Amino acid sequence: MKKVLILGSTGSIGINVLNVIKNLPGKFKVTALTVNTRIDLLEPQIYEFNPEIVAVKDEKLGAELKKRINHKCKVYTGEESLCRLAAESDYDIFVGAMVGSAGLLPTIEAIKRGKRIALANKETLVVAGELITELVKKYNAEILPIDSEHSAIFQCIKGESGREIEKLILTASGGPFLHKKKEELEKVTIEEALAHPNWKMGNKITIDSASMMNKGLEIIEAHWLFGITPGRIDVLIHPQSIIHSMVQFVDGSVKAQLGLPDMKLPIQYALTYPERDANNYERINLADIGSLTFSEPDFSKYKCLALAYSAINAGGTAPCILNAANEVAVDKFLKGKIKFTKIPVLIDNALEKIQNYNSPDLELIFDCDRKTRDLVLNMN
Ligand code: NAD
Ligand code: MG
Repeated sequence: MKKVLILGSTGSIGINVLNVIKNLPGKFKVTALTVNTRIDLLEPQIYEFNPEIVAVKDEKLGAELKKRINHKCKVYTGEESLCRLAAESDYDIFVGAMVGSAGLLPTIEAIKRGKRIALANKETLVVAGELITELVKKYNAEILPIDSEHSAIFQCIKGESGREIEKLILTASGGPFLHKKKEELEKVTIEEALAHPNWKMGNKITIDSASMMNKGLEIIEAHWLFGITPGRIDVLIHPQSIIHSMVQFVDGSVKAQLGLPDMKLPIQYALTYPERDANNYERINLADIGSLTFSEPDFSKYKCLALAYSAINAGGTAPCILNAANEVAVDKFLKGKIKFTKIPVLIDNALEKIQNYNSPDLELIFDCDRKTRDLVLNMN
């Protein structure tokens, strides 16, 4: 049985990972779980999956959980507890299912132990892609994508050589505002931005999908995962979210991976790779779906997409600035402090004001992340 640690077990991805594990009895054993604050959701997970150890980032809530559970499971608390679990606990597969660049340090701990990293937490690769890629090589670790687009590409290139790839085509649903004009985005509400047509996800990525920053982060993620330059990564709007992404080869042939919009599939593949395990999840019925449609993204409407391309082209710490500014801007939007259209404005300002450094080490990345957050927090 493979032992699994899940970073962020109470989120949308984390819960799906536990479902996948439950549906493959005898294959995986959950040994460690971490959460930020949701001890109400963690407690039943402890009773059901019997991890040896859990970590709660919030000290107070962690202490409360310790008192509450009547169980032999160890509870670590506080900021450092996530890294401690990644560095010390017993597991074969590290699932990065938490949101935001706070996932970076624990992921590095897992890489240093040469583990399999099943990665949903795209922000980690966005802020430190160069560093992470070097460490993965150095410590002989492996990253398997959970993000559906990257899982699709990973499946399409199996058995092909990297030299034969002409371009990657990342599909995007276009989110809830696909049919709105760019002027109409001025007035959209939090509720409208949170109403994604195809996927049920955590709040941050749902807002990122509405602004298309999610696709921007995914371009950067794809660049680091597959070693393809940003100029050879295209974005194609595909509102049905059935084709999860495509690869075009040098002879003009295009391979696509299809499936229903359900994260259980890419999660299962990242856990069981190189095997495919049978399951009884709903199958796709293309005759029922009828038609699949495509269009070009409008960069003047989806400004975050254009910003992401310029950040990865600039390289260095620019993607880290992009990500930190976006995390703060999205949080401000979700708290009702700024309009939806202000998100790209704040990110653009941060990219202009914060200095970019080439090939940053971890210290420089953290410094840049903190400076950007401070700056954007104080912008209106
Ligand atoms: P979510 O908000 O539903 O869950 C986040 C999880 O991370 C929770 O368990 C929470 O306890 C933990 N967490 C949050 N902030 C933390 C912090 N500062 N420190 C420690 N733990 C923290 O998010 P989600 O939708 O599950 O997304 C998780 C990651 O997966 C994101 O990076 C997202 O971009 C990526 N992703 C999600 C989906 C999806 O379908 N939800 C698809 C592709 C990629
Ligand atoms: Mg995705």
